[in-house]
Amino acid sequence: MFWEDKIAVMPRWFLGPALLLLRPVNVTNPLSPGAKVGLTVLLAVYGFIILGSPDSFRIIDNVDLAIHETGHLIFGPFGEFLGFLGGTLFQVIVPLTFFGYFLRQGDRHAASVLLWWVAQNCWNISVYVKDARSQELPLVDGEHDWTYLLYELDLLEHDQAIGQAIYVIGITLFAASIGWGLWSARAKPAVKEK
Ligand SMILES: [Zn+2]
Repeated sequence: MFWEDKIAVMPRWFLGPALLLLRPVNVTNPLSPGAKVGLTVLLAVYGFIILGSPDSFRIIDNVDLAIHETGHLIFGPFGEFLGFLGGTLFQVIVPLTFFGYFLRQGDRHAASVLLWWVAQNCWNISVYVKDARSQELPLVDGEHDWTYLLYELDLLEHDQAIGQAIYVIGITLFAASIGWGLWSARAKPAVKEK
């Protein structure tokens, strides 16, 4: 009975977000359509530069790093494994939270920018994962998170493949964010429903 209830709710649960993504309505974004296109084009160019050399440290990686360290503090009390994972986890949770917020606001273009940031975080994370065995990156928080995590999971020898998968997920999200950003830029402010 429990699962029947769950399945009955699923289509609505699934269709709701899907419809939100597809309806080009824009409620709150103050940017003009031209400015939105401009911003998305800039993010496309910046994204292409980053994905060409994700291991070069850029200004935005400083922001990711601050969020990463906060994640360790937040997840630290939930045991050693989650404490180590928390840094990386929070790098995805923070942009996804804002992504969800803008989506709920009906601001699809802003949400596309946040999706771009999720993609950029994937590239940042992929570099760290691929470094698990070689440990060449300078660390600010002592032990290497991904050496520990992959060792615990018995996956250390697959660090390159796992890192590459996260990098490719980043490319997919990046392409989606740019396509969606350009598409949603044309949205006109919605007429307020009474
Ligand atoms: Zn860390």
